[in-house]
Order: sequence, then structure tokens, then C-alpha cells
Amino acid sequence: MTVLAGARVVTPDGVLEPGWVSIDGGRIAAVGAGAGPPGAEPVSGWLLPGFIDLHVHGGGGHDFTSSPADMAAGVEFHRRHGTTRALVSLMAGGIDAMCTQLGWAAELAGSGAILGAHLEGPFLASARCGAQNKAHLLAPDPLVLAKLLDAGQGTVRTVTIAPEVPGAIGVVEAIVAAGAVAAVGHTDATYEQASAAFAAGASLATHLFNAMGSMSQRAPGPAVAALDAGVYVELINDGVHVHEALVRLAARVAPSRLALITDAISATGVGDGHYTLGDQAVVVESGRARLAGDDRLRLAGSTLTMDVAVRRAVQSVGLSIEAAVAAASTNPARLLGLSGVCGAIAPGLAADLVLMDDDLQVQQVMRAGAWL
Ligand SMILES: [Zn+2]
Repeated sequence: MTVLAGARVVTPDGVLEPGWVSIDGGRIAAVGAGAGPPGAEPVSGWLLPGFIDLHVHGGGGHDFTSSPADMAAGVEFHRRHGTTRALVSLMAGGIDAMCTQLGWAAELAGSGAILGAHLEGPFLASARCGAQNKAHLLAPDPLVLAKLLDAGQGTVRTVTIAPEVPGAIGVVEAIVAAGAVAAVGHTDATYEQASAAFAAGASLATHLFNAMGSMSQRAPGPAVAALDAGVYVELINDGVHVHEALVRLAARVAPSRLALITDAISATGVGDGHYTLGDQAVVVESGRARLAGDDRLRLAGSTLTMDVAVRRAVQSVGLSIEAAVAAASTNPARLLGLSGVCGAIAPGLAADLVLMDDDLQVQQVMRAGAWL
């Protein structure tokens, strides 16, 4: 039994100033306000639940699609930034290559290191493919979906799809029927087309506002469709992808549906230079990633980590710490049906904790009761 006491503890019922958390057998045993029981280990600053990143491609120089070792090492890199649970995102690629990568993800999920995989393709709109390789995009096809889901051995948790492409709605229904989350993204959909996907069971928008049409007063587009439908929405809060006013707006409209993600690529934590994202060449300058040889401002993922996303949410965007924690941990856990497993500092849940100092810099990370 470990007891941590003295930090401000962010719980679903508010901030305990100070509070204490007892940990037993990898789980949170009890949470309370005040100085805590005798023998407690003193900590200071903020104690937050471990972050859950629904959308990440790599980090620390490791691209998840390069090898099983790179996938594991990239996950490990993000853990040091407070991401105790994650989905590994796989870009559109050759189907055989994607199936191979899904096999690696299934193995990693089987060991408990990740929650599963996010398929960011291949059923995307070529007009909004972002950094994805157009040559790998496919029309929505239930047989291809079935092959990918099989390769993931039940660990594919989310699938991004463009709902306006013919055949997409049937595939949205098939994704949901398979127990996964259908996510609207990389899409040229109108408000109406996106709304049809949400009515068919899609329950997430992939990086809201990015890789989708923008809003106008008579054509509100897919982002408004997502907020209007009350589905979960991912946001890349790196100060580059989305204006802070839109982050505030999404947090106000969808406080229990907002999910902060990184969409981080291998360059994250390494520095500027030349990298790969899937089979695409990427250049990182001043922390901004774009496709090599592409002069337009087409971002190719981010170099964000979840601790920075949370710090920015509080210090730059102006969200409360409770709202930031909901978006970084509680909401993504609920989307995945894991509210009883992780995503909050509450008795019975996994002891996934991020200890941050007063400036919200990571001090220590605990996963399933063990400090990293
Ligand atoms: Zn992505």
C-alpha cells in the first residue's frame, strides 16, 4: 500500500487542496481530502489522472509503423509525458502493411501497454487527406474493413472515415456493429453528410477543425455537425492546428465530449529535421511538421505531447484544471467504454497518475501503481 499526500488532487468531484490517494495492487484504493493517513509519502504540486491519447503516430524518433520495437518505444516516450494509456494511430498504407502493423498493435495491446489501435484510413477523402498518401486511399469497403479488424484481433478501437464517399455509411454501421468507434474525419463532407454519419452511429470527430471543411453561416460543415450531434471531438491543442478561441468554444459546447489528442509524429521530442510519417517524408521546422516538398501550409501531424496540451489548455486557453483533465483523461476513457477502468482519480480505477509541479511540468508518472 502506497499513500501519496499533500498535492492538489484533481478528482471527478473537484480539486482536493490538499488531498491524498492510496494505491494498492496497481489500483487506487481510496481518495480523500486533508493531510492523509500517517506514513503517507509527501508530494506537492498537482496530482492528475494519467492522460489517454486517442490519436498518436509516434514520438522520440520512433514511427509506430516502422517496426514493433519502434511502436513500443514511441509509446514509452509518450509515457514520460504523462500518457499512461493510448491508441496507436496507423495511417493509410497498403492493406497488407496495415495488417502487419495491426498485428504489432494487437501484441502490444495484449501485453497491456496500449489500449488498442486507431485506423486513420484508408477510407478518407483525397481532397482532405492531409499528410496521408493518396495512393493508399480506398473507397469504403466492408470486406477491407473486415480484413483490417481481423488483423487487429479485436484491438481496433477507432476508425476514421470520410462519410461523404459512396458506401461510407454502410461501413460506419459495420464499424459500430464490430464494437469500434466510427470517427468522422479527413472529410469534405457537408453538415448534412456528416450529420448522417453521426445518425448512423459515428460517435467521434477526428481532429476537429483540421482536415475538414470550415464553417460558414449557411454551410456549417462537419465540425458544427459534430458539436451539434453531441459526439466526442478530438482537438490538437498545440497552438498551431486550432485557434485558442475554437478550443475554448469546443470546451464550452462539449465539456464532457472534448478529447485532447497529440497527433504526434516520430519527430516529437527530437527536434527539427527530416522524418517519416508512415511512408511520407516530413520536414519539421520550429516544431511544425509538414510534408517534404509541399509549400502549402499543410500540417503533417504535430510535435505535441499530452503534458504540453494540458498545460496549454490551462495557461494559454484558460480552461479550468478540471476541464483540462476531463479532456485529457476522463472523456477519452468514457468514449472507449473504460470509465470503470481508468481516466480519473477515483477508488477502483487503475493507479495511473501524473504528478506535475505548480507550473504543470511533469515531475513523475505512475502507471498501474508503479512509478516510471
Ligand atoms: Zn493522425
